Amino acid sequence: MTPVYLQKSTSVKINLILPFKILPMKKTCLAAILILTNYCVFAQKIEKVITQKYVGELIKTLSSDDMQGRATFTPGIDKAASFIENEFKKIGLKPLTGEKSFRQSFAKVQLKPAESIVTLNGKTIDPTNIMAFGNTAENFSLDQSSRTPIIKLTASKPFMEQFRSLSRSNKQQVVLVDPALSSDFKRIKARLDQGSIVDSKDITTNPNAIVFILDPASEALNYKIVLKNTMLNMPLFNVAGMIPGKSKEKEIVVFSGHYDHLGIIKAVDQDSIANGADDDASGTTAVIALAKYYKKLKNNERTLIFVAFTAEEIGGYGSQYFSSRLNPDDVTAMFNIEMIGKDSKFGQNTAYITGFDKSDFGAILQKNLKGTEFTFNPDPYPEQNLFYRSDNATLAALGVPAHTISTVQIDGDKLYHTVKDEFSSLDVNNIFSTIKGIAKSAGTIVNGTDTPKRIPKLTN
Ligand SMILES: [Zn+2]
Repeated sequence: MTPVYLQKSTSVKINLILPFKILPMKKTCLAAILILTNYCVFAQKIEKVITQKYVGELIKTLSSDDMQGRATFTPGIDKAASFIENEFKKIGLKPLTGEKSFRQSFAKVQLKPAESIVTLNGKTIDPTNIMAFGNTAENFSLDQSSRTPIIKLTASKPFMEQFRSLSRSNKQQVVLVDPALSSDFKRIKARLDQGSIVDSKDITTNPNAIVFILDPASEALNYKIVLKNTMLNMPLFNVAGMIPGKSKEKEIVVFSGHYDHLGIIKAVDQDSIANGADDDASGTTAVIALAKYYKKLKNNERTLIFVAFTAEEIGGYGSQYFSSRLNPDDVTAMFNIEMIGKDSKFGQNTAYITGFDKSDFGAILQKNLKGTEFTFNPDPYPEQNLFYRSDNATLAALGVPAHTISTVQIDGDKLYHTVKDEFSSLDVNNIFSTIKGIAKSAGTIVNGTDTPKRIPKLTN
């Protein structure tokens, strides 16, 4: 698709040269020495605590075939969670307030269509010709005495167009579908038959379900519909730990990445495991490595939370639950890290920040990186809506300066969401340098001297 290697890297270099050029000679040397010394001390320190080898081993383990692609609700993700928990334990993090362990557990309910019995104008309908949208009840029944509106879908308009407008209506309806539309009907039915994941509070005995019946009938003089769903309690867990702040304990800085991925998908060259090495074992690795670094540093004035989110790929449930468990006003900033496994389009030692202009988070990070080899840029893919496509979105909507840091060339990465997103395709050096860039740039937020501006809250 779009060629990826483009401009901007020139402005990146200007940042490094500028402080030396504008100062008089003597001061220049002093400034240069100070900046360099500062950076060298810092670089030395971080490399003493986390090494490229350590980073490589973390990501290799998380993306190994042994973890089976870490799909939510599978044994593979359980294994990954245990691994992360064990790392947090070795590092010496504390569980979050109110939690006994590093697993922040919650549950969802999976609803799956199990039985459909429909008679229409005295005729029994084959269950393969019945589907229901929005049925959040275990048992659902309906007959003509309900005076539910009956709608007929004709073949004169595309099925999807009619289906979409009906599904948005949120009204109970019975829809007769012309058999000429059967191929689209079957396609949507296959998707609905996979079931849906809902909150237990959304289960109701009286949902506004839309029942579609594939049949040539043009009216429903009498009918009876009985639908049954199976309900399955589905356990989920984020893995989270913290380092309490020394003087500003109530102010929280979050470092996050999602540890779930797609699991087993369609095989390519006999490989069916979507390892998700870049997406997002790389970000999870950064979270663990940063935890190790800050724990050793022991100078965080603010409280630091390190969290590996579950279920990002299937709807962001992990970050939604995490956000519901704290007061967003207490969160000073969120560094969400997604896909840092390969060079960004700006070249080596660069990454970008989504939603750059929504707060001054990015500007603070850039300021803290002056005089170092690393640079943060604004997200170069605004049309891709990346700000809303990761786990930062929930907290950002609640007003937190919550941004995602990434290096992925999203418009051209052929390995994205394929079985080929494997450890061997990554550049561990890039991951390591991005982690160091984040550690350095977060310094003044961690030590409480900088507080990024809030993002305007989204109201429903
Ligand atoms: Zn993904």
